[in-house]
Amino acid sequence: MENKLEDLKKEISVCEKCKLCKTRNKTVLGEGYEEAKIMFIGEGPGGDEDLQGRPFVGKAGKLMDQALLGLGIERKKIYITNIVKCRPPQNRTPEDDEIKACIGYLMKQIEIIRPEKIVLLGNTALKSIMGKEYSITASRGNWIEKSGIKYMPTFHPAALLRDESKKILFWEDLKKITE
Ligand code: URA
Ligand code: SF4
Repeated sequence: MENKLEDLKKEISVCEKCKLCKTRNKTVLGEGYEEAKIMFIGEGPGGDEDLQGRPFVGKAGKLMDQALLGLGIERKKIYITNIVKCRPPQNRTPEDDEIKACIGYLMKQIEIIRPEKIVLLGNTALKSIMGKEYSITASRGNWIEKSGIKYMPTFHPAALLRDESKKILFWEDLKKITE
């Protein structure tokens, strides 16, 4: 199992399937427990992630860490990744062609790890997995079941940095994954 993720990491490190390969420093596969029951999916690497090759290590990551601590979930017991594995320039939203090129890697990660629950952080994660008709405002806080996996859409932690009032809802949504 570990080997399959290691293989994927190597494959991604040289991937040129979309234009994000031209501006990235490091690819960010994701990290965590290979048998995690809970997976978190964000949007794509930001500046800190691009330099370190690790997911959610910047400001948004610190917020995630705080939330996990509050929930009593250890980061090493879960798996954290993103929709695209290379940083979009200026942290813009990943474009459709980039998501289409990259999403196969995420599907492989889900197949290897087989989590019971997946938290979708923000609109990019939600729309990429469930379809464009979905939106965080309408869907957040409600389980969506698909192919035997329960998905919980909620705000992206970066959205909480812009709007503090979303923190309480984010917290309420995350509490549902531990129930
Ligand atoms: N934002 C994301 O969506 N993913 C990261 O890894 C970091 C910030
Ligand atoms: Fe390949 Fe994904 Fe990076 Fe595009 S974002 S180059 S598809 S790993």
